[in-house]
Amino acid sequence: MPLLVMKFGGTSVGDAAAIRAVAAITEAQRAAWGQVALVVSAMSGVTDMLIRGATTAASGDQQTFRDVDRLLREKHAAALAELVPDESERTAISDQVFRLINEFSILCHSVAVLGELSPRAIDAISSLGERMSVRVVAAALRARGIPAEALDATGFVITTTHFGDARPLQDVTRERTRAQLLPLIERGIVPVVTGFIGATEQGMTTTLGRGGSDYSGAIIGAALDADEVDIYTDVDGVMTTDPRLAPDARVIPVLSYAEMGELAYFGAKVLHPRTIRPVVERGIPLRVRNTFNPSHPGTLVVQEVESNGQTVKAVTAIRNLSLITVEGRGMIGVPGVAARTFGAVASVGANVLMISQASSEQSICFVVPSNTVPQVTYALEHNLAMELARRDIDRIWARDDVAIITAVGAGMRDTPGVAARVFGALAESRINVIAIAQGSSECSISTVVAASDCDAAVRAVHRLTQG
Ligand code: ADP
Ligand code: ASP
Ligand code: MG
Repeated sequence: MPLLVMKFGGTSVGDAAAIRAVAAITEAQRAAWGQVALVVSAMSGVTDMLIRGATTAASGDQQTFRDVDRLLREKHAAALAELVPDESERTAISDQVFRLINEFSILCHSVAVLGELSPRAIDAISSLGERMSVRVVAAALRARGIPAEALDATGFVITTTHFGDARPLQDVTRERTRAQLLPLIERGIVPVVTGFIGATEQGMTTTLGRGGSDYSGAIIGAALDADEVDIYTDVDGVMTTDPRLAPDARVIPVLSYAEMGELAYFGAKVLHPRTIRPVVERGIPLRVRNTFNPSHPGTLVVQEVESNGQTVKAVTAIRNLSLITVEGRGMIGVPGVAARTFGAVASVGANVLMISQASSEQSICFVVPSNTVPQVTYALEHNLAMELARRDIDRIWARDDVAIITAVGAGMRDTPGVAARVFGALAESRINVIAIAQGSSECSISTVVAASDCDAAVRAVHRLTQG
């Protein structure tokens, strides 16, 4: 029987009305597909609240996490009151949720006493939102007559120990996910699995990075060899740009994995950047759809897309970046400078989002998140001390407050002049381009602009998607 994995994001489970919509979609899709499994985010705002409680506790504040404790109780109790009419079931579920909230306060209290918040403690605390929401959603499905069971992914999504940014270990995850979920699915029970979280082989809770429930959906879909993975969110699909930036953004009906990968990597928040990989590997179609407009077909993401003559399909932006330049005449023809430069950046764990090298070889510049600049420049000065002393490298400097604007579309590969149109559009809006790079997949062109030009640049390039 075909299997559909559906992931529902934070707003999709944000209150009782949203969870009712989730239950209605689950019922309809279960009838259509035969078998379904759900992956669910924390209720909207909850992960932020948990993290705020933890970070304020670390600075000795004993009040904020107590306020968060109360808000969490109210939010989940209000949803349960509307969704679960049976009193004994409602009490049982709210007991489970309240136990998790107690755990939150106990953890925050320890953080406050220690005055220290380790990455491991942040993950233990921020994982609680999903552990609460799955219990509420599963109860809501049962109240509607759909057999459902809440499951913590910590039992089967087994990850590396990179707290806050963990990756699944594919083989064990596949084996355990199948062992846990398939028997339920075969009995007609809908598993409702926590997104965002996993555990190390030793059983320590990890998270997959903010927005990581999409990734969880793909990981579980791939492990189960699902026939499709649907990401349900609060917009009709993947759009030509962030609808909050350009009200005339339109839904894109079909995208290739490569295009979607570039969009997500370069900042389209609608999908976590790692989501594509697990589904590509197994050729599983991915769909992005709207919980609040379920009759809309959304965006389908597949291997090959027939060209519709549209070269620039979408535009994205990433903010809060800095451009670091390593420059010096002595770099010409000296092998290994680039390798050591990026070695230094990697040694502090900073993420290089884009690289561009001038053809004269006199400088290398690359873009990193602004909050990593102090560590990155320190590591560079340390690793390249000899070249600096010899004046082979003249200077290493950072330009803050820049943004990357990326135009995405597979048609760029075979169409000459797309880059010229992108730069033309920016020039027309009087936007100065600081640096450029073309992705190796040749389905994106990225430009670096001043942060203050970011919104105008997005709108300027967005006009090309109408062409
Ligand atoms: P969820 O909680 O369902 O995971 P997110 O807030 O993480 O939802 O992602 C959905 C949001 O992504 C949309 O509400 C929209 O504002 C934003 N977004 C940014 N870029 C795009 C884009 N290109 N297409 C669609 N949505 C986008
Ligand atoms: N709840 C997590 C977050 O807010 C994961 C997600 O929603 O995808 O980051
Ligand atoms: Mg999201």
